[in-house]
Amino acid sequence: MIEFRVKQDIIEVGKRMYDKGFVASNDGNISARISEDRIIITPTGVSKGYMSEYDLITVDMQGNVVYGDKKPSSEIKMHLAVYRKRPDVKAIVHAHPPAATAFAVANKNLDKITLPEVVFSLGNIAMAEYGTPSTDKIPMAVEKCIDRSDALLLANHGALTVGGDVMDAYYKMETLEHFAKISLYARLLGGERVLDEEETRELFRVRKEVYGRDNFLYADKDTGDTESTDNRGSASDQIGGDVGAGEQSPPDNKSEPMVRSTVIGHVEDAVKRLVMEEIKKSSLF
Ligand SMILES: [Zn+2]
Repeated sequence: MIEFRVKQDIIEVGKRMYDKGFVASNDGNISARISEDRIIITPTGVSKGYMSEYDLITVDMQGNVVYGDKKPSSEIKMHLAVYRKRPDVKAIVHAHPPAATAFAVANKNLDKITLPEVVFSLGNIAMAEYGTPSTDKIPMAVEKCIDRSDALLLANHGALTVGGDVMDAYYKMETLEHFAKISLYARLLGGERVLDEEETRELFRVRKEVYGRDNFLYADKDTGDTESTDNRGSASDQIGGDVGAGEQSPPDNKSEPMVRSTVIGHVEDAVKRLVMEEIKKSSLF
């Protein structure tokens, strides 16, 4: 029953990706992990807009076909690498949505913290280094950054999103593409206002406390061994890249500024309460 539902979701997501122009021709691939050692994945050489359940293939964690007549996606190694690195991930969507892919092709990071909904849904967006499709280079590049992000740009290639189920991974791809378009429009208008450090911290706190999502912001910086591909030459960070542009570099969460901002926040709340009480009192008389 779970397998049937998963296959229906993969077929539905394939249609949506094709209809929205996230993929052309036979591009893109979708997979879902249905058990410890079983993955359902889309085939190579088939348009993702017109799949039936007979097109889908079941493979084991080594990529061996255990069910299905077609050949699995040529990017199967990338999917297996993600599942091995992130046991929490149950589905993966890979596509070439034009706006997000434009950022990937231009080697521009999409990591400015500007929209709360994007932070809640995606956390930070990483850029995986370029690798020739179907070789081991893409899986290796993805492995380097998938542990701290649910949405990746693949340099000179496209985008990849992961989630707890097929629809979750797909909606992240929609959010990523929407964010890429908004970022492009904002740059036409003179550039984004990037949220400041305190606003960013608050967003990631809410992401964790309210939405229960991993707080990639505070991932161990030593694991962030990827170099920025942004042509502005700044050193990449797990989040809020463009550090060289002086925009964002959230400090460690145990740092003094965090303590100070928490104290200031408490003081501000107390002052607000007093003011509100005064207002209430004055309106009574
Ligand atoms: Zn691709």
